[in-house]
Amino acid sequence: MIQVQNLTKYYHEFCAVDQINLHIAKGQIVGLLGPNGAGKTTTLRMLTGYFMPTSGDIRVKDYSVHQDSLKIKDMIGYLPESAPLYKGMLVYDYLDHIAGIRGLKGENKSKRIKELADMCSLREIMHKTVDTLSKGLKQRVGLAHAMMSDPEILVLDEPTSGLDPNQIVEIREIIRKIGEEKTVILSTHILSEAEATCDRIVIVNKGQIIADGNLEDIKGEAGRGAMIHIALQQADPDEARIVLQQVEGVDSVNALKAENGELVRLQLTCRASADPRPHIYHAIKGTNWVLIEFRQETKTLENIFRELTREN
Ligand code: ATP
Repeated sequence: MIQVQNLTKYYHEFCAVDQINLHIAKGQIVGLLGPNGAGKTTTLRMLTGYFMPTSGDIRVKDYSVHQDSLKIKDMIGYLPESAPLYKGMLVYDYLDHIAGIRGLKGENKSKRIKELADMCSLREIMHKTVDTLSKGLKQRVGLAHAMMSDPEILVLDEPTSGLDPNQIVEIREIIRKIGEEKTVILSTHILSEAEATCDRIVIVNKGQIIADGNLEDIKGEAGRGAMIHIALQQADPDEARIVLQQVEGVDSVNALKAENGELVRLQLTCRASADPRPHIYHAIKGTNWVLIEFRQETKTLENIFRELTREN
């Protein structure tokens, strides 16, 4: 559906997006996740035809942004970070106005406004003025605006930024519902957002993609080199460290101080792509140590995100 090839954007000398390659299939909900300044907004603006790339290409179906940016714009609904709403208008009038701009008339227009009011839960606020609405309600009106011409692709820049927890849940539900039929690309720096809403997460940092896949792929990839925690009784810390250090797949062992003189705690860092747990079990079985705890640290998306994006 969307093919991004070597997409690059320079602001003068500064490279904000650096040779990004992405293939987005129809019907995916893709989260572009990255810290502030990672290049998410710039990427979305190029996708939606707001900015032309410095180099590289974006193809949507058979169209390229270089030759057919208007055709691509027609296929994409875009909700920027702050939805540009006409603040003094009633919600109904605002949607009616947008529908008119999109060329809808008569019955088609009323039908589409009604569909969007249902889709974005706007029925109760249709006769309220836009500037009296909470940020969450404004976002829902913005979503209805973006969906007016029933685009195949919906692009959302930080759709839950600044919303309270209840509003976040409401917007997520609407996005997931839209995602059942459409291709959705959203940007966020909120990890739980990407985790809760997206089928695929693309982590960007300093203009480059540093991880791409579903949550399990990303956790699996970054989870290699995992940490294992062990607690032993009747063990000497130095001896335990030496024995476990020799186990296949174990990279390093840190023996922590024995508690009350008897409990020895060890942290084992495993080699990438190794699962040394069976070997550790056999190594301990051959001793007189009493195994009290044996636990592999599960990495959360948050740990992974921090590891991948922290400053060198
Ligand atoms: P945020 O979450 O803070 O919006 P982002 O990941 O969306 O960040 P961008 O807004 O794409 O990042 O910005 C990427 C980099 O490009 C940043 O360092 C930013 O300062 C810079 N930048 C963005 N727009 C411009 C501009 N018009 N001129 C110059 N530099 C810019």
